[in-house]
Amino acid sequence: MTYQHKMADGSALDLPLGKVVCVGRNYAEHARELNNEVPSEPLLFMKPATALVPMEEPIQLPRDRGAVHYETEIAVLIGEPLSAVDEQGAQHGIAGIGVALDLTLREVQSVLKAKGHPWEKAKAFDASCPLSAFLTPATVGDLSAVEIRLSINDQLRQSGSSAQMITPILQLISHISHWFSLQPGDVVLTGTPAGVGQLNAGDQLRVEIVDLLRVDTGVQ
Ligand code: ZN
Repeated sequence: MTYQHKMADGSALDLPLGKVVCVGRNYAEHARELNNEVPSEPLLFMKPATALVPMEEPIQLPRDRGAVHYETEIAVLIGEPLSAVDEQGAQHGIAGIGVALDLTLREVQSVLKAKGHPWEKAKAFDASCPLSAFLTPATVGDLSAVEIRLSINDQLRQSGSSAQMITPILQLISHISHWFSLQPGDVVLTGTPAGVGQLNAGDQLRVEIVDLLRVDTGVQ
């Protein structure tokens, strides 16, 4: 199934698909679990629109490229052009809040990191960004207290709150907009809490924004 942005209440969203701007190591505990330094400013990378797939569709893992890790992340849908905006401007530009999986070829990434090479082969492959429908910003309310969870086969694997972010959501969008313009339809992934791990064929996933949104999906 091809991906299209949609709201969780089923209402249409007339936004094109754009780039996905991601931040690495935005939760200190996750940086530590991978033995990474906590960065002094946001570490950014991107996925192209070809990475987007509907989260409720079965997840297809790339073959023969080593371990594929899940990273559960709060996803922010951009609704207005944002260039060099402050936090208030960032807030005005948000069209929706959802949840995404930043799928990562962890072994490929380790090799690239060791060589000091860019991460795209590990992060930007087709279908590397299963994405939920979006809630309105009004439904979500306080962006500094958004809680996400991932359970696999009924076991809680990741649980985190935007309160734990090193760079909070609005500050992050502002920062990104000083380096790259964000366009309507672009998505910002805000980093993953601790607990990342490998996906396996047959896994059943429940991905949640606590009390607001739940997606059940599986690995093919
Ligand atoms: Zn990530």
